[in-house]
Amino acid sequence: MTLNILFSADAKNWQDYEKPLKNGLAKAGLVANVKTGFTPAEVDYIVYAPSSALQDFTPYTRAKAVLNLWAGVENVVGNTTLKIPLARMVDPGMTQGMVEWVAGHVLRHHLGMDRHIHGLNGVWRKDIPPLAKDRKVTFLGLGALGQACGQALAQFGFNVSGWSRSAKEIDGMTCYHGDAGLEQALQDAEIVVLLIPLTNETENLMNTQRLTLLPEGAVIINPGRGPLIDDAALIAALDNGQIGHATLDVFRIEPLPVDHPFWVHPNVTVTPHIASETRIETAAQVIVENIRRGETGAPLLHLVDRDLGY
Ligand code: NAP
Repeated sequence: MTLNILFSADAKNWQDYEKPLKNGLAKAGLVANVKTGFTPAEVDYIVYAPSSALQDFTPYTRAKAVLNLWAGVENVVGNTTLKIPLARMVDPGMTQGMVEWVAGHVLRHHLGMDRHIHGLNGVWRKDIPPLAKDRKVTFLGLGALGQACGQALAQFGFNVSGWSRSAKEIDGMTCYHGDAGLEQALQDAEIVVLLIPLTNETENLMNTQRLTLLPEGAVIINPGRGPLIDDAALIAALDNGQIGHATLDVFRIEPLPVDHPFWVHPNVTVTPHIASETRIETAAQVIVENIRRGETGAPLLHLVDRDLGY
């Protein structure tokens, strides 16, 4: 049987993905039409970007799954017309990119690189940074990305801990979970990395009270989602020295408006949602593998739990 696979994303995505998807499907022995338009009732799988025009899944009566092109699903998980399984993107290329971005920004703060990059004023500042083993780095979120980044930093020697919803045991990391675990995770965290999805539970996770739990001068690195942090609380904490620096890749409104105080705050670094991108070749393989699984009755990878919201 020939499968009909709807590619519902923007024109640039289609340009990038068409060949790798078609090649991957053929290599997997799947006979398929992959197109950007079908009669809805004839579609078997939907490869999907939440920003695409498709928002009403009701007419897709035959479709077996929606395969998200993005890691974050906050813009699709609440769609009440979507009744079939939703898989999010966990892409080895994206994971590697995130490991590199997080490691780079953690090392910047750990080594105090800014002092020397911006301090070219004739002063011989021989301040030696501590070794990684004496630096506490904490990950909020121990999923595909938090675990990979945490383990990479643990390999480097950092004292790494992390926090998740459910209890975990991860080599090289101290793991906390639940409300009490969050307090423990934050209380001595010198560098905190947010790699948690945006859900009803996690919005404004880093509010005034939680920012106060951190040791004075702690650094926050947020490649997760903007609304995980209460912006006003963060600015107040930066102004009073409770937070030493915030490196932010994601924001409530993107692009970050030009008049937003983050742009001009001396202790904020803004990066334009570039921490990590889905990499076409590896992501196409993940989508093909899920279609192969769907067709052979195997469980789909990376299924989203609609009740939990991620
Ligand atoms: P994931 O595999 O779904 O992992 C999510 C982690 O967050 C899990 O450890 C989960 O706990 C934890 N979590 C969720 N809700 C929680 C709660 N209420 N309390 C405590 N822990 C909670 O996600 P991922 O693939 O690692 O991605 C994480 C996020 O990174 C994505 O959702 C996306 O927003 C962001 N992201 C950003 C970029 C970028 O370029 N900036 C790129 C990709 C992804 P359990 O393990 O117990 O379930």
